[in-house]
Amino acid sequence: MLDIRQIPVLSDNFVYLVREPQSGAVAVVDPAVSEPILEEAKRLGWKITHILNTHHHPDHVGGNMEIKEATGCVIVGPGHDPDRIPGMDVQVMDGETYDLGTEKAQVFFVPGHTRGHIAYWFKDSDALFCGDTMFSIGCGRLFEGTPQQMWTSLKRLRALPPATKIFCAHEYTESNIRFAVSVDPENEALRKRAHEVKALRAAGKPSVPSLLGEEQAANPFLRADAPELAAAMGMAGRDPVDVFAEVRRRKDVF
Ligand code: ZN
Ligand code: FE
Repeated sequence: MLDIRQIPVLSDNFVYLVREPQSGAVAVVDPAVSEPILEEAKRLGWKITHILNTHHHPDHVGGNMEIKEATGCVIVGPGHDPDRIPGMDVQVMDGETYDLGTEKAQVFFVPGHTRGHIAYWFKDSDALFCGDTMFSIGCGRLFEGTPQQMWTSLKRLRALPPATKIFCAHEYTESNIRFAVSVDPENEALRKRAHEVKALRAAGKPSVPSLLGEEQAANPFLRADAPELAAAMGMAGRDPVDVFAEVRRRKDVF
């Protein structure tokens, strides 16, 4: 099982340190910055061997070169986006797996937020690192993709086991919930998640990771094909892609 540590950086980013205990391999997922990550690894006595990038945005690759310089680690990133990941050594593609010691990461190409975005699923540890594709009760903005692409990407992630822990890259959950209840007010699972997150945040704790099973029931961006959500939005019977596009549009102006 992977040992996963969450490091909050910048205003709302999460960087993850992931250790595979048998080999001692340690990956940093989406290093926004370098210093706090190098410090935490040192404190833990962990030697960083890899960086895993999900996409090219500065708050996900900003620490790449300094961490590589300090540790000599291998940078793994999307082969779907070969030119925008600083220092990338290994390009991985949809359907491939990448070995971190004895643990395998399965790669999902999930365009929508950016045109080259990927996610890493460590099946044996029930862990998904999905960058800015899925958030708890939210999804990434469509900077470089269409609603059709993002909906397809989210449906692929939604199909993973409900026990999958969603290690997304931002603490956006409270504001996502404020929006979600505006489009899906009768959703019991969403209300439950809202209470849970309120308590976590009041106690100064992160709301991430969440469980995919909870997201499947409560995240409106995963529910564009749920008749109850379409009906609540005045879009009964409409194509899920249209419903998804409208949920995303309303969130953009919320
Ligand atoms: Zn991003
Ligand atoms: Fe981001």
